[in-house]
Amino acid sequence: MTHLPTELRNLDTNSPEFRSDRALALKYGSQGPRYTSYPTAPHFSRDFDRDQFYNWLKTNQEQNTAPISLYVHLPFCRNICFYCGCNAIVTREKTAARNYLNRLKVEIEMQSQLVGSNRPVTQMHWGGGTPNYLDHAEITELMHLLGSHFRLLDKRYREYSIEVDPRGLDNNTIALLRGLGFNRINLGIQDFDPLVQKAINRTQPYHEIQPLVASIRSHEFRSLGFDLIYGLPFQDRHSVDDTLRKVITLRPDRIACYNYAHLPERFRNQRAIDAQNLPPPEERLLLQYIISQRLQEAGYLHIGMDHYVLPGDELAIAQQEGRLQRNFQGYSLHLADDLLGLGVSAISQLGDFYVQNERNLDTYYTLIDQGRLPASRGCKVTDEDKLRRFIIMSLICELKLDIAECARRFDIDFGTKFDGQIHALRAMEADGLLQLSADEIQITERGRPFLRNVCMLFDAYLDSDPGPTHSSIYSATI
Ligand code: SF4
Repeated sequence: MTHLPTELRNLDTNSPEFRSDRALALKYGSQGPRYTSYPTAPHFSRDFDRDQFYNWLKTNQEQNTAPISLYVHLPFCRNICFYCGCNAIVTREKTAARNYLNRLKVEIEMQSQLVGSNRPVTQMHWGGGTPNYLDHAEITELMHLLGSHFRLLDKRYREYSIEVDPRGLDNNTIALLRGLGFNRINLGIQDFDPLVQKAINRTQPYHEIQPLVASIRSHEFRSLGFDLIYGLPFQDRHSVDDTLRKVITLRPDRIACYNYAHLPERFRNQRAIDAQNLPPPEERLLLQYIISQRLQEAGYLHIGMDHYVLPGDELAIAQQEGRLQRNFQGYSLHLADDLLGLGVSAISQLGDFYVQNERNLDTYYTLIDQGRLPASRGCKVTDEDKLRRFIIMSLICELKLDIAECARRFDIDFGTKFDGQIHALRAMEADGLLQLSADEIQITERGRPFLRNVCMLFDAYLDSDPGPTHSSIYSATI
């Protein structure tokens, strides 16, 4: 049975429009960064100058009263999802969370002294893994620890969010999270189709999600977000349309739609997915089209690359006002320049530095037990990086680049500096992906799926690219 709207049911994949989009997908489709930072994480180095970084922190923090964002990484999951490309640790070992919290406590103490414990924490995000792997006492303990070492803000001024796995979530946990001060919550939905859920080892029926959404609404979270994935096994236009109908019925404030990157040679768990069951490229393109059409018909605004929000949502307003930012958690409001990442593999952006904590759990524990900070890789952003980051983040957040502003801010002749890129941009303009003038690059609606291809023109590291190492950083551009 199909519920496809007429225009999709009748969509002719031999129509000139669809063939043209397909040709573009073939021409521009490649693996590319998601640009949650620039330089991107694969280009952080183990050889970066830690002393320079720590000296900068020590000299800077005393006077620093600027707002800060916190990211807390909680790496454990109870089950493996076959599509997962995260640094997740699947365990049911009872002591796992306890051991981790003990180390996190030490790291929080060390980092708060270095970074400054009096800085207002305007934003906080708990991600993973599965943050609700922790039990109620552990969640409470962790929030208390953070509150004891950083200046958490009154609820009117805070944006505190958490990613949760709906499996195992209940009213009591939702009430606890709200009571502890979280005001944004994100559910990993991915797809509602039972066959797809079985194929990805993530069973969470719609009838179990519905009451959770009602409970979240009753606790008055400022926003509820859903993560969806397209390109999963057994997805087709009918199943995705059915999932979208259910999603629209539940009406989350924010929806992120990610493109599944099948990299079984890198992620062992993905070997459980039979590539033959993945939607072929043409169907995948259609799925992307259906998602965009259906959500916009339902009143959602398409912001950035892969996010849809209700018109009143703060992200929509932030994009209009140029306050949208992209960082390791995706799109968010720009409420602080500095981000401190806590926990295994967490990434910080502090001043001109990107620093990633050790990714291996045992090594992370060893460093903490030795009383050492767990930074393992990083980089200091150069002036050239800042220029290119400004361009890439403008494009990815605002879908445009104010060339005159860029030239003024970085004191460059844009046309001379990016002569080669302008040539490539003109070819993209001829394909309808953007409009280029002396003052502006503007991404068109047709070009939105190829946004990362435009950004990649300005990425100076791509030639030395180590390739996809992490699917939350890399994925197929289309
Ligand atoms: S997708 Fe999320 S819940 Fe599933 S294994 Fe990966 S981190 Fe854990």
